[in-house]
Amino acid sequence: MIHGEDEARRLDTGDPGHRELFHVPPATAGRYAETAYLAGNSLGLQPRATRDELLADLDAWARLGVEGHLEGTRPWLPYHEYLTATAARLVGALPEEAVVMNSLTVDLHLLMVSFYRPGGTRNLIVVEDGAFPSDSYAVRSQARFHGLDPGRAVLRLKPRPGEDTLRTEDVLAVLAEQGERIALVLLGGVNYLTGELMDIPAITRAGRAAGAVVGWDLAHAAGNVPLELHAWDVDFAAWCSYKYLNSGPGALAGVFVHERHLGDPAIQRFEGWWSTDPATRFEMAPVSRPPARADAWQVSNPPILAMGPVRTSLEIFDRVGMTELRARSTRLTGYLERLLDEVTATRPVTVITPRDPSRRGAQLSLRVGRGAGELAKRLRHEHGVIADAREPDVLRAAPVPLYSTYHDCWRLAEALTHLVEETR
Ligand SMILES: *Cc1c(COP(=O)(O)O)cnc(C)c1O
Repeated sequence: MIHGEDEARRLDTGDPGHRELFHVPPATAGRYAETAYLAGNSLGLQPRATRDELLADLDAWARLGVEGHLEGTRPWLPYHEYLTATAARLVGALPEEAVVMNSLTVDLHLLMVSFYRPGGTRNLIVVEDGAFPSDSYAVRSQARFHGLDPGRAVLRLKPRPGEDTLRTEDVLAVLAEQGERIALVLLGGVNYLTGELMDIPAITRAGRAAGAVVGWDLAHAAGNVPLELHAWDVDFAAWCSYKYLNSGPGALAGVFVHERHLGDPAIQRFEGWWSTDPATRFEMAPVSRPPARADAWQVSNPPILAMGPVRTSLEIFDRVGMTELRARSTRLTGYLERLLDEVTATRPVTVITPRDPSRRGAQLSLRVGRGAGELAKRLRHEHGVIADAREPDVLRAAPVPLYSTYHDCWRLAEALTHLVEETR
């Protein structure tokens, strides 16, 4: 039993967030009507506006047929452009540096076609040892694609023995020591497992100074922490939209390409008809004329019905703003951390996410001993709390500043006191 339910309620009154904009799943257990949803780092909740906006696009198809490409309130032909400004502001990009397209890993491949160009002795790709598996598969297959042995071409950054997260100084040391051999640095902005926020500007600076290209996977960073990709001189980045960005399962991904690479005629790129300048697209010419925009990395005409939910969600982020969200996120996650400290003081559970709020986003990861999946099940089926397990031993909980409450945090801590036995 953990005290402070009244305090949680009071904090929610004073610092309410924007929960009313979202559908919160009903609880199937416990004492409360709604789930305490702390898995927005895995799949964000559905904005209430999404359904009507999506239906409007579907209606345009019913009413207009093929003419919907050019008519209606949101003609399809330039549809991806409706997402550009909001996506760009979200990550601190110039409008020409951002585009929403495809899925995350597909985009990483398309970007590596352009930005992983091994040659001579400079052929390493630097990733985190704890990289998301898809990223690990992607970089290994890119190395093989270039005829390289992935076991040698992929350099994995490991935390120090006994530590769970990377230290910036250690990453910088590797970049300095191996600099001349590194072709590409591709790291997660926020690590999916530990919740560690990397020092993106410092690592980007060091990687570029070493002569490498520096790209970021921002799957767990976009919509979670403020980003200034243009000012930080990041070469490229990609992020999915179904985690903090609440755009629905498998939603389209976002891509950033720095201005200095736009319109570069020497750059290699896989192209299709959407890579070319929209003004000349229907000339159906045999040679593409790519615009000096990230749009040039598009290949196919985009799936309009999948873009709608991303558009709706990005507009919410644009209205509320990452500054406000980050401030509430810091308060909310700090509050959860205090409660978890009470829980863990007497139980065999530890927080592995960095303690410094500037080195993490919303997520706190707990090492819970074996059986993280079983614990997550019991949280849900006995207490109506949804957190996310990574087997064997990590439970991830992310109070999302748009819709999570202090009371959700309290419910997780309270449920853990019932489910994890005291050993001290
Ligand atoms: C969620 C996530 C992915 C998922 O990749 P998809 O291509 O969207 O299936 C990849 N990388 C990271 C770091 C992630 O967090």
